[in-house]
Amino acid sequence: MHDTYKNKIVLVTGASRGIGKAIAYKFASQGAYVLGTATTEKSAQKISNNFKKKQLLGSGFVLNIAKKSSIEQFEKNIKDLDAPNILINNAGITQDNLLLRMKDDEWEDVIHTNLTGMFRMTKLCLRGMMKARFGRIINISSIVGLTGNPGQTNYSASKAGMIGFTRSLAKEVGSRGITVNAVAPGFIKTDMTDVLSDEVHESLLQHISLSRLGEPDEIASVVDFLASDRAAYITGQTISVNGGMYMG
Ligand code: NAP
Repeated sequence: MHDTYKNKIVLVTGASRGIGKAIAYKFASQGAYVLGTATTEKSAQKISNNFKKKQLLGSGFVLNIAKKSSIEQFEKNIKDLDAPNILINNAGITQDNLLLRMKDDEWEDVIHTNLTGMFRMTKLCLRGMMKARFGRIINISSIVGLTGNPGQTNYSASKAGMIGFTRSLAKEVGSRGITVNAVAPGFIKTDMTDVLSDEVHESLLQHISLSRLGEPDEIASVVDFLASDRAAYITGQTISVNGGMYMG
């Protein structure tokens, strides 16, 4: 086991599956203590058990980033631990619909989870980072925050919003040794993309230069880099990891 992140506390939201799970393991396998969150007690317990089985440091916690009360409870649950040095705002949802059919609920749920959730989790961690004069905040945005996508006005607005947030906060906290960056994944093999039909999948591949979907670990590697000392002079950036689907 490497000890790149020895004595670092890393908070990963949405660590029960997909990209968040890969990120959580990436840090834990390099010596970090990982706080991995899930929306249910059962999944949180599973995160804890899996860390234990693999003899990695970390535990699972219940957290719904769309609910202020859940965030407050989470804050109480972690109060005896040291403050996180590294925050990965990964949890996110989609609720696709064409704009004319989009219900208020579909708009609000996505904006509230992806954007307001990130805002609240960042506030929760920022004070500790300012005190320590060190911090890494990495927000998982999306290719569609850069390109747009029909049927995803809510999701792409939230993901573009994350990029604006990243840039503004990077300017606010840079002098305190805190970097703030975003990663914009293309289409990655997770539950989120499992729902795409074979037809959509085939047509997607025609637009991806590397002719395949990405793996969660390929996102985790870039997050790892941004959190490391090697990326100490990178802030306010959005790193695309999309197999060449969008090169802007
Ligand atoms: P996923 O497989 O659907 O997993 C989503 C994760 O977020 C789960 O751990 C889930 O927890 C958690 N989550 C959902 N709603 C939450 C809430 N209200 N509060 C706290 N946690 C919540 O998603 P993914 O594909 O790994 O995506 C991870 C991130 O990458 C998302 O922000 C997504 O928008 C972004 N992204 C994904 C892709 C892709 O192709 N997959 C592309 C671009 C960007 P539970 O297990 O408890 O439900």
